[in-house]
Amino acid sequence: MVCKMDHGIAIGCVPVWGKRQSCYAQLYAPVADPLQKEPEERTPLPKGNMWSIHKFGGTCVGTSQRIQNVANIIINDDSDRKLVVVSAMSKVTDMMYDLIYKAQSRDESYLSALDAVLEKHKLTAMNLLDGNDLASFLSRLHHDISNLKAMLHAIYIAGHATESFSDFVVGHGELWSAQILSSVVRKQGVECNWMDTRDVLIVNPTNSNQVDPDILESERRLESWFSKNPSRIIIATGFIASTPQNIPTTLKRDGSDFSAAIMGALFMARQVTIWTDVDGVYSADPRKVSKAVILRKLSYQEAWEMSYFGANVLHPRTIIPVMRYDIPIVIRNIFNLSAPGTTICRLPADENGDSKQLKSLVKGFATIDNLALVNVEGTGMAGVPGTADDIFGAVKDVGANVIMISQASSEHSVCFAVPEKEVNAVAEALQSRFCQALDAGRISQIEVIHNCSILAAVGQKMASTPGVSATLFNALAKANINVRAIAQGCSEYNITVVLKQEDCIRALRAVHSRFYLSKTTIAMGIIGPGLIGSTFLDQLRDQAGVLKEEFNIDLCVMGITGSRTMVLNDSGIDLPRWRELKKEKGEVANLEKFVQHVHGNHFIPNTVLVDCTEDSSVASRYYEWLCKGIHIITPNKKANSGPLDQYLKLRALQRQSYTHYFYEATVGAGLPIISTLQGLLETGDKILRIEGIFSGTLSYIFSNFIGTRAFSEVVGEAKEADYTEPDPRDDLSGTDVARKVIILARECGLKLELDNIPVQSLVPEPLRASATAEEFMQQLPQFDQDMAKNRQDAEAAGEVLRYVGVVDAVNKTGLVELRRYKNDHPFAQLSGSDNIIAFTTSRYKQQPLIVRGPGAGAQVTAGGVFNDVLRLASYLGAPS
Ligand code: ADP
Ligand code: ASP
Ligand code: MG
Repeated sequence: MVCKMDHGIAIGCVPVWGKRQSCYAQLYAPVADPLQKEPEERTPLPKGNMWSIHKFGGTCVGTSQRIQNVANIIINDDSDRKLVVVSAMSKVTDMMYDLIYKAQSRDESYLSALDAVLEKHKLTAMNLLDGNDLASFLSRLHHDISNLKAMLHAIYIAGHATESFSDFVVGHGELWSAQILSSVVRKQGVECNWMDTRDVLIVNPTNSNQVDPDILESERRLESWFSKNPSRIIIATGFIASTPQNIPTTLKRDGSDFSAAIMGALFMARQVTIWTDVDGVYSADPRKVSKAVILRKLSYQEAWEMSYFGANVLHPRTIIPVMRYDIPIVIRNIFNLSAPGTTICRLPADENGDSKQLKSLVKGFATIDNLALVNVEGTGMAGVPGTADDIFGAVKDVGANVIMISQASSEHSVCFAVPEKEVNAVAEALQSRFCQALDAGRISQIEVIHNCSILAAVGQKMASTPGVSATLFNALAKANINVRAIAQGCSEYNITVVLKQEDCIRALRAVHSRFYLSKTTIAMGIIGPGLIGSTFLDQLRDQAGVLKEEFNIDLCVMGITGSRTMVLNDSGIDLPRWRELKKEKGEVANLEKFVQHVHGNHFIPNTVLVDCTEDSSVASRYYEWLCKGIHIITPNKKANSGPLDQYLKLRALQRQSYTHYFYEATVGAGLPIISTLQGLLETGDKILRIEGIFSGTLSYIFSNFIGTRAFSEVVGEAKEADYTEPDPRDDLSGTDVARKVIILARECGLKLELDNIPVQSLVPEPLRASATAEEFMQQLPQFDQDMAKNRQDAEAAGEVLRYVGVVDAVNKTGLVELRRYKNDHPFAQLSGSDNIIAFTTSRYKQQPLIVRGPGAGAQVTAGGVFNDVLRLASYLGAPS
């Protein structure tokens, strides 16, 4: 080892306690050398309930004002004795790591970065302290900074920093915050001592970037420290410690929680309170799941599992030391003192387990990103003892951290997750360890799957309670999320799944809302706020509250787009104001961006697009949307009556996925026609024929074409009453009815195209090319004669005229035409603009099954769309 002295700093050597006396003695040496001979008179260390431990995280001491606030909390705590563990001011540890990174990358800006660190602490101290306290802190600070400068200079020259060097540098944030805080407390007239925990906490490094506390040695040093600093209030540095050889080290990132827990155990304290910036432990990371809820109580095991799997509100190592003495940990929010926080303690067995409610079985969810999955597969592994040992031996040799393991019971494959940054080394080690087995084909492959995340569901007894994992996987399937691997620990405390990183947040939200909120939340995007779309939005506005309160369904309209403008909102559009908002806040419509917003940029696991247009270009996007897991609901007939191959592709996709495509309102508006047909088919009935009056407009016209009235007069009346399209030829041509016939025919399995359906148009041949609707209406009376003749013939035979669509499932054909029906036929009884549809099937052969009712109009069509939305909600788990 090269030991070159530069500015009094040893490069390549680590600052050792003994040596520190010479180099750094005045810097952090409030106490004498802990290794020196014990003094004769000792103040014994009192232990037990009189002590309470507080830990203040970086955000709690982020500014001078916050430090003052912490001092007040300490002073107001009426415990007999207090030990306060404090983190570095927020961001400072990152700044310190950055200094090292810069210096070893030979980037001179470490100097200005160090100045920023100095400035931050100087200003804070000047805001809070004065007189001697300030002077003495500033002199220590300058001293530390000039030493750090020398040390960083050495690192800069060497282009490298050892781990001990880094640990020594980065721990300064805690040294400064603890000293400032203790001076502030003293300034209030309350006596206290600050503790450099490197004098007390002794830890042994392990090979997995963790340290293990040496409790016995730490106790000995604590007693020694206390005998020299007998205090009722101690302000101790978090994060830092020493090795048994007195080399400064740290408890690794976020380690101050762990420091507090070790202190709790050393003092056998009454309680450890961890102060942070959230109200407690949430059922999921509140930054990812806005509807996460605070958990009031957690068992030690549950808290450990949550933190191990990524809930960084608590360091995972925090639990073990306190658990030994049953010391409760309370997580509290320094910015919201009225919140009671989360208590982590030993829970009686029946506190969780006896209730079989999902909510009490699953406490929370956590995720870890940036993982890779390694899959070792081969038939030669089965029954060969030691394979797992070999695999994990190789992994251990490269020092990689295995986060979860899953082995199929057939023993054909072992798969495990490691941090992405370690996976290449792991894969190489496995390739070389198993090179013979690979050559011989006993192991077929060592596969690496990159960009994975782990999602863990945590809760006491959950893994052994039937139904919990089914619910979990069901929620994932419904959110269209593919699970790569599963592990269910025998511990009964967690179920872990590995998924693609890009799916992770959506998965988290899906399972969270399924278990925790037991509420079905759906993000909606409304395309086409025309007559039907806007009626639907108004119905939704009037009903949303009831759905939420009574049925636990939360429908959130994230965006509304017309053909020119769209309005988007991250937390849901205020429906009573959607028209104004679209006018005031509308932006240029862009369907791509719209869909991305509704599906991607929010906290809701399920998305539905409601297409209220009549546009075939919108319909042609359904396939792509369904592929993305977006549900579709529409009254737009274009997709189901468009090109057959596209229709078949769409249906095939829908059948093999958990994504839903509902289109009840394409035929008969709100009448249950598609669902009746599907019900018959699914229960094994055979459709023979479907015949019906599918056009509300033509139904109205022929119901009123009676007595002496002329056909053109009735058409004119229907147009006046807005029953027809602006150009009545669109109704009279029969194309719309033909589309409905095609939709029903295809539903029955007939492979027909629109032009396979013969359609009798009621637009007289010479008028098909008339330029405008007005011209058409003017000329129509010239043809009244023909229609009157038709009617008279029918009447003479005791019949009426009806314009119908027919699906002949036996002969696999369909048609649309004007037909005559006996006066007592159900079709002859129709009034207004009602639709009527008769299903003749194997079961309903003598008497067809008839569905009848208003089949046109914005209210009933929008109602049909709404009904599909509620059907979707119930498919997604809403109570029925
Ligand atoms: P401190 O600096 O006080 O130690 P941390 O940033 O380490 O604070 O931890 C608190 C943060 O943990 C919260 O701000 C929150 O964003 C995050 N967090 C992640 N998962 C959870 C969870 N399940 N419950 C609460 N907070 C969580
Ligand atoms: N300051 C250290 C870190 O940021 C330790 C902590 O705050 O828990 O990692
Ligand atoms: Mg923390």
